[in-house]
Amino acid sequence: MTPFDLTGKVAVVTGGNGGIGLAIACGLARAGADVVVVGRNAAKNERAVREIGVLGRTAHALVADLGIADGCREAIAGAAAIHGRLDILVNNAGTNIRKPPQDYTLQEWQTVIDTNLTGVFVCCQAAYPHLKAAAHGKIINIGSMTSIFGASFAAPYSASKGAVVQLTRALASAWARDNIQVNALLPGWIDTDLTRRARVEVPGLHERVEARTPAGRWGLPEDLAGTAVFLASPASDFVTGVALPVDGGYSIQA
Ligand code: NDP
Repeated sequence: MTPFDLTGKVAVVTGGNGGIGLAIACGLARAGADVVVVGRNAAKNERAVREIGVLGRTAHALVADLGIADGCREAIAGAAAIHGRLDILVNNAGTNIRKPPQDYTLQEWQTVIDTNLTGVFVCCQAAYPHLKAAAHGKIINIGSMTSIFGASFAAPYSASKGAVVQLTRALASAWARDNIQVNALLPGWIDTDLTRRARVEVPGLHERVEARTPAGRWGLPEDLAGTAVFLASPASDFVTGVALPVDGGYSIQA
């Protein structure tokens, strides 16, 4: 037993069928957790289950749209029902629509907020009774550099990711006496489908990120796995309400 051991724990990773979520799901499985991933795309879900499954723990996937409150509730209930318990919730599913703020329709604003913020809140609410029943619980919310900085081409995304940090702090203080720790990871610029699209839509982004990041490179999804295991494990039992950048130093650069 190391303080990072997750043997016997059940983890749900939303958006765990690709990108950062899949890397976190694999990290948790390597540390011993049984994993349930949630995503909209059934084919991606199946591939993720195969990838996680070879790591020696059980892997399941549920199809759900987490931009809809009932989708969140059903996904968490379904995940908890698989093993009859739930110990770890990683709220990773997220989306972005990039354009100047004056051009968003209300529907576009709502789509981003529903997925990135309301979905996180509803998943946390739905998970709470299970985490409380387990007498310990870990929630990891995925923020962003836009939790700290503004992005001229991502107003609803920035608003949602800033709010996720404050939601993390509110839940951390509310549920600390239930022995549930709630923390956030703030990824820097990570090479995934999401940012591959951004690099097409935002000219010069690739080079700007490389130049500004002290580590001199874009992050890989796997860069998030270690901190996620830490925040999911007994090693972080006295850490709550924290928003931890995993960014190669991007956020400390003037
Ligand atoms: P990807 O686009 O690769 O993955 C996004 C994931 O979210 C997919 O698994 C997708 O599943 C899922 N998802 C999106 N919308 C929904 C929805 N309505 N219901 C259910 N699942 C949904 O992006 P990343 O891996 O890059 O992003 C993961 C998280 O990290 C996001 O919260 C993102 O904001 C955040 N982040 C990413 C950064 C980066 O540089 N890549 C930087 C900072 C934060 P499916 O396709 O099946 O719907």
